[in-house]
Amino acid sequence: MTHPYPRGRGVSSPEYGHCTDKLCRPLRDLRISVTDRCNLRCTYCMPREIFGREFIFLRHADLLSFEEIVRIARQGIALGVRKIRLSGGEPLLRRGVERLVEMLAPLCCEDGKPIELAMTSNATLLAKKARDLKNAGLSRLNISLDALDETIFRRMCGSRAAPIAAVLEGIAAAQAVGLTPVKINTVVKRGINEDEILPLVHHFRHTGVILRFIEFMDVGLSNGWRLGDVVTARDILAKINAEYPLRPLDPHCPGEVAKRWEFADGGGEIGVIASVSQAFCHECGRLRLSTDGKLYTCLFASEGVDLRDMLRARCDDNALCQRINAVWRERDDRYSQLRHAMTWNPAGKIEMSYIGG
Ligand code: SF4
Repeated sequence: MTHPYPRGRGVSSPEYGHCTDKLCRPLRDLRISVTDRCNLRCTYCMPREIFGREFIFLRHADLLSFEEIVRIARQGIALGVRKIRLSGGEPLLRRGVERLVEMLAPLCCEDGKPIELAMTSNATLLAKKARDLKNAGLSRLNISLDALDETIFRRMCGSRAAPIAAVLEGIAAAQAVGLTPVKINTVVKRGINEDEILPLVHHFRHTGVILRFIEFMDVGLSNGWRLGDVVTARDILAKINAEYPLRPLDPHCPGEVAKRWEFADGGGEIGVIASVSQAFCHECGRLRLSTDGKLYTCLFASEGVDLRDMLRARCDDNALCQRINAVWRERDDRYSQLRHAMTWNPAGKIEMSYIGG
């Protein structure tokens, strides 16, 4: 197979240049979890029976400071990062997160282009913050919404509190201030919300909002994942296509997570993220930074590499850059490609709420 990036294994120029891993995948995206807390308890991410009243979340002192996050982001960009995504837990629960956006937004790639700065949020707190996030320099948002039916919404997000209305208000606010295109992430779980696929499509067609349906994944160790609960991308597309004919769209860039489709009648675009049935590890350029400063090279990783101690030991930027470079260079993760061949569930898989989706 010819690789799109014929630079050779793990070539990196310490003076800043592109960094590739053992499978010749360039580092492109940095996903930063800014808090391990959330105000929802989505069953596929943070089930209430595990993340209940007794659960001990990280202390504030354990979290990376905004200055520390910016230092890591700067070195990531030097090694090829083009897109930064802020997530959590729920990033809008991190006090002053707008300030972090403001500190990250001016960072530019080596070609002078600004990085793309995005956020994944459940939007329950967004209506009041959208304007500030936009003014701070946020590019756009991905918003989690698994149903329009209130009862099914509560079953999926395990919440007794936040109504759908708050999420829809947040989406409207994001659109109103120009945090567009808004993308909706909908995790589909068999027997729970697959009948919400068409109501969501009806609701968001012709609005500019891009729905992305996500196959239920075996992230972490606490969401009770079973293959039988997965509604595959093929099934999701077949259900939509029967009602609204679809045609495929080309990816925006290599490694784009969602496969893109458009309604043949001009009703807009949708996406499917098929980590279980159509693994996309071969183009994965995503590095994840946990809330307390560990680097993870895969969503399904079990071990991370700590950066916080060296930061708090006042390391210089070159040492920091070399550490990130070394982590990526040694990377050979492709969990989703290997999932079906695995006869065991890897011990200690990190929870998605700790490293962001
Ligand atoms: S399973 Fe890991 S390597 Fe594969 S696409 Fe997901 S994060 Fe990337």
